[in-house]
Amino acid sequence: MTPPPSMPINYYEVLNCHPSDSIEEIKKSYQNLVLKHHPDKQNASGNQNIEQFYRIDEAWKMLRVPEQRKKYDAEMKQRKFDAEPIVHAKVYRQDFNFDSESQNFIYPCRCGSFFVLPDDCIESVNCDSSVINSSDDSKSNGCNENNDDDEIYIECDECSFVVQLLSNSTRSR
Ligand SMILES: [Zn+2]
Repeated sequence: MTPPPSMPINYYEVLNCHPSDSIEEIKKSYQNLVLKHHPDKQNASGNQNIEQFYRIDEAWKMLRVPEQRKKYDAEMKQRKFDAEPIVHAKVYRQDFNFDSESQNFIYPCRCGSFFVLPDDCIESVNCDSSVINSSDDSKSNGCNENNDDDEIYIECDECSFVVQLLSNSTRSR
């Protein structure tokens, strides 16, 4: 996955280290890199190296101050979040309506298409609505569900919208 163009320079990458590295480790890496890329060490050819040197210097100046590093880390984390699919709505299983044409439980999307309830969620809809009880039930106790906390995301058929499926569980958290 290539980062979007707005992605800032990854200072950790520049310094050849990881966000989990201690400041000593980062400093060591920085010092090694600076020695390698220092303009004084370059001959006339070193244009690219000077650029790289400045980038290394900039990265170190950012990460060596704990508050700045913290802020930078938080920003990077947030950007990662932003890259996740956008949840367009949170819906309950009973919000899905049975579509007799497609034999699916569907929920309308803004784009005019639909979110289709995955097969493995349909059973619980039947159980909860308690209306569909006509067919003979071989397993009388098939309604117990133990994955209430699972986060289920359903993508629209046509566009990139995503809904988060919430369980019917009435218990509060
Ligand atoms: Zn859509």
